[in-house]
Amino acid sequence: MHNRDFHPESLMMTHGYKPELSEGAIKCPIFQTSTFVFKNAEEGKAFFEVAYGKREKDPHEELGLIYSRLNNPDLQILEERLSLWDKADECCVFESGMSAISTVMLEFLRPGDVILYSKPVYGGTDHFVNKVLPEYGINGLGFTSEQSKDEVLEMIKSKDLRSKVKVIYIETPANPTNALFDIEMCKEIADELSTPDQEVVIVVDNTYMGPLWQQPLKHGADLVVYSATKYIGGHSDLIAGAVLGKSAHMQRVRRLRTFLGNMAGPWTGWLLMRSLETLKIRMTQQAENAKHVADFLLNHPKVEKVYYLGHLTEGDPSYKTYKNQLSCAGAMVSFDVKGGEKEAFKFLNSLKLMKLAVSLGSTESLAEHPATMTHSDVSDEDRDLLHISDKLVRLSIGVEHYSDIIWDIEQALEQI
Ligand SMILES: *Cc1c(COP(=O)(O)O)cnc(C)c1O
Repeated sequence: MHNRDFHPESLMMTHGYKPELSEGAIKCPIFQTSTFVFKNAEEGKAFFEVAYGKREKDPHEELGLIYSRLNNPDLQILEERLSLWDKADECCVFESGMSAISTVMLEFLRPGDVILYSKPVYGGTDHFVNKVLPEYGINGLGFTSEQSKDEVLEMIKSKDLRSKVKVIYIETPANPTNALFDIEMCKEIADELSTPDQEVVIVVDNTYMGPLWQQPLKHGADLVVYSATKYIGGHSDLIAGAVLGKSAHMQRVRRLRTFLGNMAGPWTGWLLMRSLETLKIRMTQQAENAKHVADFLLNHPKVEKVYYLGHLTEGDPSYKTYKNQLSCAGAMVSFDVKGGEKEAFKFLNSLKLMKLAVSLGSTESLAEHPATMTHSDVSDEDRDLLHISDKLVRLSIGVEHYSDIIWDIEQALEQI
């Protein structure tokens, strides 16, 4: 009875924070400061040696505070807490999800390399892979959840890219249809393509499911990335990102963050710590509400198809991945209305409680039209392939009473 591995939710209020260093304040203050005072010159030297990787930290040595671009208590404590959910060695918080994603790509790719990525990925990610990286001589190659391991490998070989793939980047469940990618299958592909002096790094964007119910590192991912703007922040009031993984990879990510200078500020760090205290109860309620909503939609005469993980059955090709990789169906529900854009817009324009906005994972329920909004940049061909049609509506379910959300959806469907 001397030690216990507390659940992450039990540690979100206190972990990593020492009240005695802050006048006994129960909560971590906002360290709104650019720089930190050294006790003496020797201490300053020692802190820099560790920060710039000139020597390893001694086992009991605390990471010294130097300058807020390198580290700040509001980020450091937040990073320790976030690491608990994904069971990661380390975490780096960024000023946006896109800065987290682009920093990882810039660190692990070089001119001539190829990034193999799942389709569809977040619009900003897609733009970075297909429009920005090519300017640096790096190209993207997409694959869908319907392609098997052999088909993906065959595609890579037929394009003569076997020795060029250096990063496998996946988003699962995929936005907006909840299509699943098997992380363990990606690990097998990475093993197949890796050579003794060149490992293929697997990166999973876990934003769509959030940190509670899918731990990609456990299934073979090297790095997990988040838009902390979504579930982690959870209140639609900030933009932030995070990267998590093993120390060896994270040291490289942290180094590039230091020199790109795209870390989050102390105020954002503080807000995210506040958000983390309620992450589990928020997400649990959101997922419970989503189940009620999805079940309601399933039986509605004006709804053609519902995309919700909780409805997968043993016959579905992705059922095995769902059972193996996820412990909850999450809070994102999409559906096809009967009709097309006109009917979908009528539904969206008729909502009274839910808001018409992009983004997801927040306390308020949101609805949007992927084909003309979040995924309007996707080519027509890919949109067909990925079932992102004009009749598709995406819902992010919040913490309201589920019967009010359902009432709103029901009255809006009646307007069609
Ligand atoms: C929102 C989002 C991003 C981008 O994050 P920002 O915080 O907006 O920069 C990346 N990936 C996914 C899956 C997202 O939903």
